[in-house]
Amino acid sequence: MYSSTNPPSLESNTRSAPEFRQDPVTGQWVVIAVDRAQRPQASIDAVADSNGDPNCPFCRGQEHETPPAVAVYPGDCPQGLPHDWQLRVVPNLYPALSRHGDPITAGETRESPILAHGWHEVVIESPDHLQRLTELPPDQVALVLQAYQDRFRVYAEDPMMRCAIAFKNCGRDAGMSLEHIHSQLVAFPFIPSVLAAELAGAEAFQARSGGCVYCHLAENEIRQQVRLVQQTDHFLAICPYASRVPFEIWVLPRDHQARFERLAANLRHELAHLLWDVLRRLEESLAHPAYNYVVHTCPFDTRSEDHYHWHFEIIPRIAHLAGLEWGTGVYVNIVSPEAAAHALRSA
Ligand SMILES: [Zn+2]
Ligand SMILES: [Zn+2]
Ligand SMILES: [Zn+2]
Repeated sequence: MYSSTNPPSLESNTRSAPEFRQDPVTGQWVVIAVDRAQRPQASIDAVADSNGDPNCPFCRGQEHETPPAVAVYPGDCPQGLPHDWQLRVVPNLYPALSRHGDPITAGETRESPILAHGWHEVVIESPDHLQRLTELPPDQVALVLQAYQDRFRVYAEDPMMRCAIAFKNCGRDAGMSLEHIHSQLVAFPFIPSVLAAELAGAEAFQARSGGCVYCHLAENEIRQQVRLVQQTDHFLAICPYASRVPFEIWVLPRDHQARFERLAANLRHELAHLLWDVLRRLEESLAHPAYNYVVHTCPFDTRSEDHYHWHFEIIPRIAHLAGLEWGTGVYVNIVSPEAAAHALRSA
């Protein structure tokens, strides 16, 4: 548990003035302003244990409450009973995007609205009424990752789509609207600005230094060990140098891989165990905080494959964004990533 009575040793020794830091990929500025009077409280919206919900549309036996599944991963019952499933992917009943629309030409600026066209699907991660990824066995987490990969491949075949993301909203403060464990997938006909900034930064780094900025960053973090949370043979988890919020975590492959959907099955299991372990450490450090995670993978065209590198970003929602963040995009973070990584390693 991370609290004022148990400060990470790094910070207790090196109290310092606010510091500007710049994200090495996007160039985004943050302020690391460690103020001992403003230690993060345990989550403002801790994810509480559920009492279950007899009307939950995502529970086993309620399959008729969702639109028909676009993908079902069956359980191990040899008869294949109708309710015997391990994971289902269904279209979002209240989609942010419509399945039909006009094409958008790259580089074009639209002055009048057009139909928001794309894919918006829900991954129901278990037939049981659970809330947290850490309540699943790591093998089931691997199946969740496989479902992301399978759907990304389907979206890539849609000639109108340019990229896709997977994300999870865990806890009401992270935007969760239904507590049964699930995540969401969205495919877009354009490149959203956050991804565009990463792609531009990665391309500029390659032009300047001739390599992949994420590979470079992974190598540095493993060498320095200061912001490293955990590592396996093929992956690492770090608190990024220019963390926007307390306890921000990135998980990425150590070797260059542009596309999450190309990750091999044996590595998917290794990643699932690491992700599970990192989320457990986060939950223990901050008393089950609300959080979002997002999977960023290369757009469907091949032009960024040599300099873009897929990754997970885990964003705990323990700080409210205020005027400065909304007005400038400059985040003020009151916990240094070095201290956060130290706390997570000890959890
Ligand atoms: Zn449920
Ligand atoms: Zn790379
Ligand atoms: Zn990213």
